[in-house]
Amino acid sequence: MLHDSFLRKHNYLRVSITDKCNLRCRYCMPPGGVDWLDHDEVLRNEEFSGLISLFVSMGVGKIRFTGGEPLIRKGFIDIVEQVRANSPDLELCLTTNGVLLENYLPELHRLGLKNINISLDTLSAGRYADITTVDAYGRVIRAIDRASSYGFFSIKINAVLFEETLDEIDAFLDFAAERNVILRFIERMPFTEDGLGGSFLPANRLVSVLETRGKLERDESIDTNVAMMYRISRGGRVIKLGIIPPMTHKFCHKCNRLRLTSNGRLKTCLYSSDDVDLMGPLRKGVDSSEVIALIRKALMEKKPGHSIDCCNEGGCQAIISHSMSRIGG
Ligand code: SAM
Ligand code: SF4
Repeated sequence: MLHDSFLRKHNYLRVSITDKCNLRCRYCMPPGGVDWLDHDEVLRNEEFSGLISLFVSMGVGKIRFTGGEPLIRKGFIDIVEQVRANSPDLELCLTTNGVLLENYLPELHRLGLKNINISLDTLSAGRYADITTVDAYGRVIRAIDRASSYGFFSIKINAVLFEETLDEIDAFLDFAAERNVILRFIERMPFTEDGLGGSFLPANRLVSVLETRGKLERDESIDTNVAMMYRISRGGRVIKLGIIPPMTHKFCHKCNRLRLTSNGRLKTCLYSSDDVDLMGPLRKGVDSSEVIALIRKALMEKKPGHSIDCCNEGGCQAIISHSMSRIGG
């Protein structure tokens, strides 16, 4: 089992399988774009599946494929296939912007990848194009509808919180109720010079708006490591929703996450610029026990928590310089 020096059990690995993306969300990528990694700098399919197997042998039981946009990686399904073949019982999850999801659903179903998080920050096609810079709203909605029609996938809709989100709260609640998906609102983290500094919205503002929209109840029994869960009853329906407040409520003490980036670096904290190269040693052909030792050492050096306390009603002052699209959120 993987523990850090604060006895936090680490059993969840988020794997960013590409740094590339087909959207340019303004809160995720800098306006000038980011330089993509060269082909050789990115882990190959068998390197991903080999490293994942190593983590599984150390006690990881849940893998989330993320990116960049995981579904634009050529061979994405081959990676999932290899991982599934190596670890038939592993919990497999995907975080996607949903633009290409519809065509992947049959394969994901076949491979038992059940948990899908789809990022959708607005229910207005125009605002979607403004935030992401791409006119793909209709495709995302179609993918969500198709995925929920399977009755197999557990679907969460992740929306980064903006002041404008509050105007769309009724639409979001109706959207979730009609499709049996779970809504989650995420406090925007200050990654990159995104020019959105003033629009940070703390989670408690959302809570006070939700309280005016129905009977809102906090349900700690279904909290996850990062999400504070609520139920809201309105119009005879009960809608489950989560709030992920990394800025105003730190959940570092419950952290169970490790991250593997597409260039083979292990990150033990999303907010830290520290990482450990696993690809270099792997390509030099070192014994897997040496890679395991590197992973254990990195974890023992993990700090008790992040130190970003910049956000308040006035906005974020501190900026984290690495792009989210490189790490996978
Ligand atoms: N492209 C995929 C997607 O958008 O779902 C996966 C990668 S994306 C980096 C993973 C998650 O990070 C998304 O839900 C996205 O909204 C979130 N994210 C990106 N930048 C963020 C920021 N500055 N603050 C909060 N969440 C952010
Ligand atoms: Fe791409 Fe996801 Fe970042 Fe948007 S949030 S730019 S979809 S990686």
